[in-house]
Amino acid sequence: MTAVAMTACSGAGPDTVSPEADEDFQYVVDKFADLEILRYKVPGFESLSLRQKQLLYHLSEAALMGRDIFFDQNGRYNLAVRRTLEAVYTDYKGDRESPDFKALEIYLKRVWFASGIHHHYALDKFEPGFSPEFLVDCLHQIGSGKLPLRPGQNVDQLLAEIAPVIFDASVMPKRSVQSGDGDLILASSNNYYGGGISQKEVEDFYARMKAADNDTIHPISYGLNSRLVKENGRITEKVWKVGGLYSAAIEKIVEQLRLTLPFAENDAQRAIIEKLIAYYETGDLKTFDAYSILWVEDTTSEVDFVNGFIETYGDPLGMKASWESTVNFINKEATKRTKIISDNAQWFEDHSPVDKRFKKERVKGVSAKVITVAMLGGDCYPATPIGINLPNADWIRRDHGSKSVTIENITEAYDKAAQGNGFNEEFVWSDKERDAMKRYGFLTDNLHTDLHECLGHGSGKLLENTDPNALKAYSSTLEEARADLFGLYYLADPKLVELGLLPDAEAYESEYYKYVMNGLMTQLVRIELGKDVEEAHMRNRQLIAKWVYEQGKADNVIELRKREGKTYVVVNDYPKLRALFGKLLAEVQRIKSEGDFEAGKNLVEGYGVKVDPELHAEVLERYAHLNLAPYKGFVNPVMREVKNEKGEVTDIVLDYTEGYVEQMLRYSRDYSFLPTYND
Ligand code: ZN
Repeated sequence: MTAVAMTACSGAGPDTVSPEADEDFQYVVDKFADLEILRYKVPGFESLSLRQKQLLYHLSEAALMGRDIFFDQNGRYNLAVRRTLEAVYTDYKGDRESPDFKALEIYLKRVWFASGIHHHYALDKFEPGFSPEFLVDCLHQIGSGKLPLRPGQNVDQLLAEIAPVIFDASVMPKRSVQSGDGDLILASSNNYYGGGISQKEVEDFYARMKAADNDTIHPISYGLNSRLVKENGRITEKVWKVGGLYSAAIEKIVEQLRLTLPFAENDAQRAIIEKLIAYYETGDLKTFDAYSILWVEDTTSEVDFVNGFIETYGDPLGMKASWESTVNFINKEATKRTKIISDNAQWFEDHSPVDKRFKKERVKGVSAKVITVAMLGGDCYPATPIGINLPNADWIRRDHGSKSVTIENITEAYDKAAQGNGFNEEFVWSDKERDAMKRYGFLTDNLHTDLHECLGHGSGKLLENTDPNALKAYSSTLEEARADLFGLYYLADPKLVELGLLPDAEAYESEYYKYVMNGLMTQLVRIELGKDVEEAHMRNRQLIAKWVYEQGKADNVIELRKREGKTYVVVNDYPKLRALFGKLLAEVQRIKSEGDFEAGKNLVEGYGVKVDPELHAEVLERYAHLNLAPYKGFVNPVMREVKNEKGEVTDIVLDYTEGYVEQMLRYSRDYSFLPTYND
């Protein structure tokens, strides 16, 4: 599971603040359930060369071609449910203002957002607000012509197949079950494993594969690009490739990748894209590694992308990767910041509060940049990360380094959309903290992401005999904690002011305040009353905040203070808080380096999971009054080719006016290539 632990992470920013609002750009597009849909700008696109724009255009088309893959990976009925409800949404002739229809609309919007019937973050199945009888009426009214029927299937048979999937809470209840004592594979309803295959069978299958592999120095990412199924009693991989599973969509991706080749910025980039095509055509994971090495070593191209089966968060065993894509170009001005950080990577490693035995003598291959995304697809859409660090294979990171990015036009959109939403007025202790957040928040947020991605994940080392899988189910949370703590510790270092990354010695305080407030209180807005914290990044934030709160009690470092019946976080001593972050960083690094499972478990279970029900209820109540949504995602701009009368492309233009529903329906019309059932 180290691939999961070492990998990209997504922080969401429902609570950032910064300078003036942008009056002529509509950041907020739609709002429903617990979701808010935003728009992002692509600053600098117009001034790229036509060639770069054409490269971005075809990469962007490739980013959209795989949309159906991710739906199907998340559950075998997801495309059937989506297509059925889209038919209803488009063709229903009854009362579109009725409560049932409105509820169906919200349900469909949620299915689009989550690429399936389970919540994108909590992973629980959605509860539909409309009745089974209503769906029956709708489908009969629409008739068989527009519905995604199997060959020979009638409307009632379709209903019999998908109604339990939508309405019966006990059918496919959770997309991915990540912890517990039961069989995680059988309990998970994602489509990474065929029906009836047990966790033991999966583990045995891959243990045999690993044992048979002679190259233990450069192991492939076993199981990364396939579904594991049992057919006639035999366990076998169905590989996602041209000619294999998901071929119809992958062929379209490859077609667009080929169209990029004439516009590649240089030979290295052309070789990267050709290698990716070869991988999609063969499904060969050694080719994928070769591609990843070419990709990580290209640090000069201005246009860049991620396209493939990359992240393994969705598989409880951390092997199978979801399909995703981002298309981007460098933000040169902001990259000066990350360049300073990566140029000083060794200094940061040498001066961290971690025991010398756990430090890297030589930090290598940290390449960091700030990027502007121009298109999001698959597992990066509509919910998207704000920072990415790839590739995931440990040996490639060790031998060739990693590429770390901060996606600043996304953080900027979060930031702008949150301005004046009342959140900080409700939860922040006083004007002093609020003003500091306004003044420094955008800068210190981005800087924390830079430090987390570019230095945090890459810092430290395992002792020689430590099993990289020693921390098991706790590894993701502890890895995120390690990276966050590294960033937090250094935010307060005079070195950052000296390097010109922060304007003064107080700037870090607003990020400290925000981090602790979020971890102790406000991130609870994402959790239903009575439930524990489950997601790794959230566990990590609570773990850190609670630990420093408890450990600082004797010195009154942080208080939970009441005013007019409301609870607030008050930070009394920032330098001491920094020392506590440093102390915890040293401990988490020790746990990782030594593979101390018991200590790791105690930290996570002791601080990261349980919620004070009284405080939770209060936070939810206060949040409800603000009428905000705790999760956010994005619509993409529409990218169009402009042609002259001879049919030559003369420009690529962006249009920011498309709404959420229009975009989803358009994608389903223009970028849907897979059969409804992919068995
Ligand atoms: Zn991370």
